[in-house]
Amino acid sequence: MASVVDTKLYDILGVPPGASENELKKAYRKLAKEYHPDKNPNAGDKFKEISFAYEVLSNPEKRELYDRYGEQGLREGSGGGGGMDDIFSHIFGGGLFGFMGNQSRSRNGRRRGEDMMHPLKVSLEDLYNGKTTKLQLSKNVLCSACNGQGGKSGAVQKCSACRGRGVRIMIRQLAPGMVQQMQSVCSDCNGEGEVINEKDRCKKCEGKKVIKEVKILEVHVDKGMKHGQRITFAGEADQAPGVEPGDIVLLLQEKEHEVFQRDGNDLHMTYKIGLVEALCGFQFTFKHLDARQIVVKYPPGKVIEPGCVRVVRGEGMPQYRNPFEKGDLYIKFDVQFPENNWVSPDKLSELEDLLPSRPEVPNIIGDTEEVELQEFDSTRGSGGGQRREAYNDSSDEESSSHHGPGVQCAHQ
Ligand SMILES: [Zn+2]
Ligand SMILES: [Zn+2]
Repeated sequence: MASVVDTKLYDILGVPPGASENELKKAYRKLAKEYHPDKNPNAGDKFKEISFAYEVLSNPEKRELYDRYGEQGLREGSGGGGGMDDIFSHIFGGGLFGFMGNQSRSRNGRRRGEDMMHPLKVSLEDLYNGKTTKLQLSKNVLCSACNGQGGKSGAVQKCSACRGRGVRIMIRQLAPGMVQQMQSVCSDCNGEGEVINEKDRCKKCEGKKVIKEVKILEVHVDKGMKHGQRITFAGEADQAPGVEPGDIVLLLQEKEHEVFQRDGNDLHMTYKIGLVEALCGFQFTFKHLDARQIVVKYPPGKVIEPGCVRVVRGEGMPQYRNPFEKGDLYIKFDVQFPENNWVSPDKLSELEDLLPSRPEVPNIIGDTEEVELQEFDSTRGSGGGQRREAYNDSSDEESSSHHGPGVQCAHQ
């Protein structure tokens, strides 16, 4: 499940992290009305924060970055666009100055549409073998009936409220000599900069200039691609009049695998063996990511210590764009020891004869104290000592008259 790193922007809009586009829009509209500087000049930077939060969360790419990586994701993902940093430091700790101006422009000066980011879940098998998959998505394309005009030619009028700019600019004085310039989307034309006469409105798109179209993309996941890698379809994002469409960007999300863990081009797995295999050699098979049955042999005479790691060279992940070169496979061995009393005592002495001999017991000089080694459940902690002391403190009871501190009690 995708976890959200930081909820600050959601908190500003008063919505939960999973909020739908609609819920976000509703919350934004309500708050923007309430805190608009025209209506509520004392609200300080509240309006700025609300606009910023909505700007990020209403954009699928930015929202994805923010959900996954929090503030840092936005900073890095924004490409360092102009005033962004100021509102960042304002919301995430720091200064106080204007923002906006993050609208990217293409080389020829046309406004460039937003990129659309989609996560694409892929299995480790897909990343090992490569895969071609079809992805269906719905996007806006220019309406063919009105050529993206929204109505008959001439039906479209420049919006008088914003003089066709789609935004209204306000200048506020924050402090003497400190002026803040703010833009807000024109409410008369919804930022379009133009209004359309009702009866000349295009029937097909209802004056929206664009219609939804289902698009099928063929996605090639190449061998060796990694979690977080992007596959870009240039210019395939939503179309809008006068705007150069942005890209559709697929962000690969590697699913967890039940056998292998990936580390770059290397693979790691854990394998359980018994004591006899650890001491006397073994052979086992496992199914690799391309469905090959791999036989692993370890000859008698070679020993596997509990928890040790052995490597199979060249059985890791293929390298991206160089798939014949592969990483390595690391196998960690979990050695299963037998249960208590698994064999009779006389058999044990036979076994002992076979095993490497014990170290000699050193000569003991002076006083000794014998203690007992007990089973210990590490999850229960080692706080038993305090109770013992409490017991010994109540030494007025005759039962605790003699024997050394706590040894007896610890037995129970
Ligand atoms: Zn139309
Ligand atoms: Zn307007």
